[in-house]
Amino acid sequence: MRVSTLFTKTLRNAPADEVAKNAQLLIRAGFVYKEMAGAYAYLPLGIRVIEKIKQIVREEMNAINSSELIMTSLQRKEIWEKTGRWDDETVDIWFKTKLKDDSEVGLGWSHEEPIVEMMKQYVKSYKDLPSSLYQFQTKMRNEVRAKSGIMRGREFVMKDMYSFHATAEDLASYYDATIAAYNRVYERLGIGDDTYVTFASGGAFTKFSHEFQTICEAGEDVIYLHREKNIAVNEEVIDDAVKELGIAREELEQVKTAEVGNIFNFGSQKTDEMGLYYTGEDGQQHSLYIGSYGIGITRAMGVIAEKMSDDKGLVWPKAIAPFAVYLVSIGDNGTKAAEKAYSELTAAGIEVLYDDRDERPGAKFADAELMGIPYRLTVSDRTVEAGEYEVVNRQTGEVTTCAPESIVAQFS
Ligand code: ATP
Ligand code: MG
Repeated sequence: MRVSTLFTKTLRNAPADEVAKNAQLLIRAGFVYKEMAGAYAYLPLGIRVIEKIKQIVREEMNAINSSELIMTSLQRKEIWEKTGRWDDETVDIWFKTKLKDDSEVGLGWSHEEPIVEMMKQYVKSYKDLPSSLYQFQTKMRNEVRAKSGIMRGREFVMKDMYSFHATAEDLASYYDATIAAYNRVYERLGIGDDTYVTFASGGAFTKFSHEFQTICEAGEDVIYLHREKNIAVNEEVIDDAVKELGIAREELEQVKTAEVGNIFNFGSQKTDEMGLYYTGEDGQQHSLYIGSYGIGITRAMGVIAEKMSDDKGLVWPKAIAPFAVYLVSIGDNGTKAAEKAYSELTAAGIEVLYDDRDERPGAKFADAELMGIPYRLTVSDRTVEAGEYEVVNRQTGEVTTCAPESIVAQFS
């Protein structure tokens, strides 16, 4: 893609009211636009990152036999009343509105109740189980505080998955498979080493739920960590957990983190409350066991922007960078050669952002750095004459050269 045709513009300054580093950087680099606190538009560069994160998550959810769907944002009040979660005292982040006939509806902040209701139409017998479904959806939550940039939105993209099982054992083994799939996701996103499966409150059937917490100064959570034993506990359950796990609190290090995922074993509580059952091989009606599994897609993007950035701007991991190469042309001969390099690289399927603008080299270099594209390839009159183009690694700053005939191999 050419910078001259890409809808984007880098800014010297972020809006004065934007306090979060992730949003400041993403706004300045042209990835997001701030509509209001907690609500951000994703511009063409930002969308490319989101789609790459989603694709990694999609591949890993498909690999554990989950199928993708899209549910509705408008939700029925009656469904949530069945479990008592329409009540604003129980769920304090609802956005509610009214249809023309005055009946109340809610805007989806989660899809647990709606999917259980939906499954009444599709799950009848043991032959319909197990079943797992997931979606990428813009969730709406009327959060009290939205000062963490895209890490806490009032609307944000979540991957939510729900699994349905005939037995508690089958759910438990799927739950473990999901933990492994989540670990692969965070590994592929480049935050695997800093992300811990963390004991947290809120399991209905089990004593704890599990959060995936990434070490991040700007995160809103605090966890207690034992790096060698790979044990992590959210501070909100620390007393319970030290008892249960038989570890001493003094052994644990306190760190600030951001919750990038959260999984729950609901047992049969919700299905019993809502009346979803299946007929077993014995012809009898049985309770159904479900799990609920979330990943904050836009929050993960914000956490990565926070953690992987320096004084020059963003530093995307290759797997989710909007483009692999930022191509800079300088001078007349440089531009001719850059056009050729651009065609060759794009023909080979390499994602190149070609800065073909009539701008100072320094401005192009600064934008390449601010946007955080993993490699900058400079084709100038001088590098053409030398027969060697310049390659700069965004992360390490390392400068190398590459012969014009081997650029495709260089970035493949
Ligand atoms: P938090 O404790 O941060 O408010 P939560 O426990 O309410 O989050 P879940 O309902 O478990 O969140 O949602 C699943 C995932 O969605 C979370 O693990 C998090 O990564 C992400 N998420 C939750 N709320 C937000 C938000 N307001 N903005 C962006 N991402 C969010
Ligand atoms: Mg949570």
